Amino acid sequence: MSYDLHTHSWISDGSLSPTALVQRAAAAGVRTLALTDHDDTAGCDEAQAAARSCGLQFLPGVEISVSWQGITVHIVALNIDPQAPALQAGLAELREFRSWRAEEIGRRLAQRGIHGAYEDAAKRARGRIIGRVHFARFLVQQGYAKDLGSTFKHFLTPNKPGYVPGQWAALDEAVSWIRAAGGVAVVAHPARYPLTASKLRRLLGEFMECGGEAIEVISGSHSEQDAQTMARHAQDLKLYASTGSDFHDPDNARIELGRLPPLPDNLQPVWQLWQDAPATQPGLAYKNLSICN
Ligand code: AMP
Ligand code: MN
Ligand code: MN
Ligand code: MN
Repeated sequence: MSYDLHTHSWISDGSLSPTALVQRAAAAGVRTLALTDHDDTAGCDEAQAAARSCGLQFLPGVEISVSWQGITVHIVALNIDPQAPALQAGLAELREFRSWRAEEIGRRLAQRGIHGAYEDAAKRARGRIIGRVHFARFLVQQGYAKDLGSTFKHFLTPNKPGYVPGQWAALDEAVSWIRAAGGVAVVAHPARYPLTASKLRRLLGEFMECGGEAIEVISGSHSEQDAQTMARHAQDLKLYASTGSDFHDPDNARIELGRLPPLPDNLQPVWQLWQDAPATQPGLAYKNLSICN
């Protein structure tokens, strides 16, 4: 069974439509796919319909932006009911902040003589949420940097001209929205945060106290060594382990869909949480699970 439980479509900062993403995943041999766009579940219905016609199990999801101790942390929600009111209200607030932030990024870049960035980023986002990636694509196209990575480094990260600090959800809020939506909360790409080992432990401890249950061990953002470190944390803390490519774009993929290494042995895969649970257990969004063909 091949799982990919962290992917993006053009509803957030990916470059494929939800349908094209599902088709690409199916062609690559993925059997269970979660769509986890940033702060928005708007692609889930389309992805679910596409999954039905290509014989893929689809899990509705979202990647929630969280501010914790002055840094941005991403919490992936898996197997949620996308209609859940608290989740939708929370995500709507995050999108409002994004919309102000995008204008502010545009203003800050304009002060440095880079004009038209907001308008261009908004066009690239096609009326959906505007993320830093949309600005990065504009800056590359205009020749301000050679690729997305150096654009982030020189323009869009702390202390750089186009950086605006995040004011995202609190950790306990995000986890509570996910649980109220019947989903499982997962710390995304835990090796990517600028945290010491002990501070990461603190994050994971607080996350578990709030009701968080899993971390990504295998991720497109992790090295082999990162995966080993996160496997140890998962074992020590009895956290479930998840796996996801964090796929955004066929032209810039660190790991292609369907090409993830297997989860290390002796970890509890996160899908046990919905596979083994009795169908009567409240809170699990079984109606959102569809196994096609
Ligand atoms: P945002 O949520 O709008 O602040 O943007 C965060 C997104 O930017 C991440 O989900 C990645 O897709 C992307 N990103 C962050 N750092 C980099 C980088 N160094 N190179 C390319 N993309 C990046
Ligand atoms: Mn992204
Ligand atoms: Mn992320
Ligand atoms: Mn992501």
